[in-house]
Amino acid sequence: MKRVFTGLLVVLVLLAAGAWAVRGRIALRIMERRLAAAMANPVIPSLPDGLHVAICGAGGPFPDHDRGGPCTAVIAGKRMFIVDTGEAAGRTLGRMGLFGTDSVVLLTHFHSDHIDGLGNVALQRWGAGNLTTPLRLYGPPGVERVAAGFTEAYALDAGYRTAHHGPVVMPPSGAGVQARPFAIPEGQDSVVVLDEDGVKITAFRVNHGPIDPAVGYRFDYRGRSVVISGDTASSPVVAKYARGVDLLVHEALSTPLVNLIRQAALAAGNTKRAQIMLDIQNYHTSPSAAAAIARDDKVGALLLNHIVPPLPLRALEGPFLGDARKVFTGPLWIARDGDLVSLPASDRTITRTSLLR
Ligand SMILES: [Zn+2]
Ligand SMILES: [Zn+2]
Repeated sequence: MKRVFTGLLVVLVLLAAGAWAVRGRIALRIMERRLAAAMANPVIPSLPDGLHVAICGAGGPFPDHDRGGPCTAVIAGKRMFIVDTGEAAGRTLGRMGLFGTDSVVLLTHFHSDHIDGLGNVALQRWGAGNLTTPLRLYGPPGVERVAAGFTEAYALDAGYRTAHHGPVVMPPSGAGVQARPFAIPEGQDSVVVLDEDGVKITAFRVNHGPIDPAVGYRFDYRGRSVVISGDTASSPVVAKYARGVDLLVHEALSTPLVNLIRQAALAAGNTKRAQIMLDIQNYHTSPSAAAAIARDDKVGALLLNHIVPPLPLRALEGPFLGDARKVFTGPLWIARDGDLVSLPASDRTITRTSLLR
């Protein structure tokens, strides 16, 4: 009996080992096919002409399993414009298959959560494309310091990359970040930052005091339009530039949920954290206030991003939104990393898919 049992055990172990090996071989085949497909069919050339908004970071400064630091890529035609580069922006853009084409970055302001992924974005862009010029970094005054700081911080690494791979693969002139500052003239609320190849980008002032300057961006391309609010309290300037826009990407903070963190901090005797949870409430926008802008200014769809606080359970999306869905009855989504909202130039549709699922 004991011998039979041992024999059965040996057979089971061999079967398990065989299944493990087969599983590994299948996984390798899947990996090979996926790599081949990704190399042969890059994402951006496969998109229909129009505007596409890719969420490369839907969160704010807090750690969130589903949402990296703020990053919104706008693809207009075959060009990519990355608004803000929060932590994990480069990795998420890479996972979404969006590197390989040249890109520029536009910063809304210089809070750390909006810039702390910039170094990796610049490095990934340099490594993925055959580029001989540094990453162009647009932003309000102050962007020169950010560009110079990141370029210096990555200078040693840039030297290593060129030395290792050679100047043809990693040309030294493609490394680093080059500032493209712009200023909104006194007495005005906006300035056109870029107008090239049918793509028009307008920066407008927002209300993120005491942080100044702070801007949002409007993109217009072939009759389609997107507004990205940046970090702001509910602002009439955002509303002005969002009027009639196809898609409004608006930041959102839930005061009741932030107050839950504040209460927990107070109960634990952590008065510093409690104070921060109070302070952040006056320079952001509630989901229902963003929804009111979407309703009053007749936007086509509302995508909430810069989600604060993190939502570790899907079931928290209802409490996060509050009455926002009653305020705005059009398409309203809470952004997640990987989201792709498409506005083709050929029609008036607005569709949401994901490049990560
Ligand atoms: Zn922020
Ligand atoms: Zn901010």
